[in-house]
Amino acid sequence: MVTLRCEGCGRDIAMHELEAKTVTERDGFTTRYRCPFCHEGIDDVAESLG
Ligand SMILES: [Zn+2]
Repeated sequence: MVTLRCEGCGRDIAMHELEAKTVTERDGFTTRYRCPFCHEGIDDVAESLG
């Protein structure tokens, strides 16, 4: 299972536990993720997915 380490609270978060939010940007849509525990923004999701 893929998990991410939240830098805000230090907890391990599974991909399906992330809070996903789709936002509009100049060049289209992008999805932002947040920690479900402390709501810290997590920017390196795509990187972690490889
Ligand atoms: Zn957190």
